[in-house]
Amino acid sequence: VNTEEQTVLDAYQWLVKLYHHLLRHSKDGKQALQYLYDRGFSDEAIDLFQIGYSPTSKDFIVQFLSNKGFHKQIMANAGLLNATNDGNYYDRFQGRVIFPIRNHLGKAVGFVGRTVSDQEPKYLNSPESSLFKKSKLLYNFDLARSEIRKKGEVVLFEGSADVISAHQAGVTNGVASLGTSLTESHASLLRRYVDTVLICYDGDNAGLNATYKAIQLLKKTGCTVKVAALPYKYDPDQYIQEYGKNKFQEQVIDAADTEMVFLMKYLKKNFNLKLEGDRLQYVERVIEEIASLESSIERDHYLRALSEEFNLTYDALSQELNARLLNGK
Ligand code: ATP
Ligand code: MN
Ligand code: MN
Ligand code: MN
Repeated sequence: VNTEEQTVLDAYQWLVKLYHHLLRHSKDGKQALQYLYDRGFSDEAIDLFQIGYSPTSKDFIVQFLSNKGFHKQIMANAGLLNATNDGNYYDRFQGRVIFPIRNHLGKAVGFVGRTVSDQEPKYLNSPESSLFKKSKLLYNFDLARSEIRKKGEVVLFEGSADVISAHQAGVTNGVASLGTSLTESHASLLRRYVDTVLICYDGDNAGLNATYKAIQLLKKTGCTVKVAALPYKYDPDQYIQEYGKNKFQEQVIDAADTEMVFLMKYLKKNFNLKLEGDRLQYVERVIEEIASLESSIERDHYLRALSEEFNLTYDALSQELNARLLNGK
């Protein structure tokens, strides 16, 4: 951390406090606070996650930072303020609820701002900087770390709202990548702490596709992947609001599929299993995935399941699998 970065970290610390204070105590913050209550966020969670509010003013934050002696250009370079070409500065997150993003040391290094009034975009992030690298950061990793280590398992969500909701529901080992897909850096970071990653993305197609991609990445690191199956059109936060914490724990977290069961369901979408040709292609595709499993016991288990589901002999499937294994997949 160089001196300019230290200055930026100090500014972040001031802003986290200010935004939080404004959410709690300003007139302007009242509707934002109500928005959070309506979403089911508790006072404890609002304090724990240091959620805040940036007022609708164009330069409230500009004035605040410059009164504290921070150099506007440095603040703009770091993404704390926006700058225009003609040298004016203005507040970046006007009228948004603020979720501070902390690094692994617990220091705020970025913000995610969510509209409370249907502004576009729905979410606005701090820009990338030397301190704020989305490909490396995971939301809530610092708070969840000890729980992650203790359980040997991390739950991976899409959004900060899911992490907070899950935390309120007792799932305290959750993190989220910040509106980007999971990266290799994220995967290897998690691998250092856990054997098992439970993916709990949104139940829509985007979530399912992102789950598939995350599985490929995580498998390369050698960890066990499980996948929580949410009903279509639900994300974890919505599920918790509607069905409550017990159902979330029992029907979603505890009932997570193995990676292979997820893949078998996921790959089915690409085939019309009423057609014989598609059925055979699907079976071949699944065998390709089975071939990549390390454990022969697991390979045998899924091969049997496949043979029963499609009424094909185990021997035939086994020959196909062995041919693949001999050819190096
Ligand atoms: P909410 O419940 O507040 O609507 P969400 O987390 O369910 O939010 P999704 O639409 O599922 O939002 O998107 C998942 C994540 O992707 C968000 O948490 C956010 O980090 C990111 N994201 C969503 N929309 C945008 C956007 N327009 N610009 C940048 N990032 C976005
Ligand atoms: Mn989504
Ligand atoms: Mn979502
Ligand atoms: Mn949501």
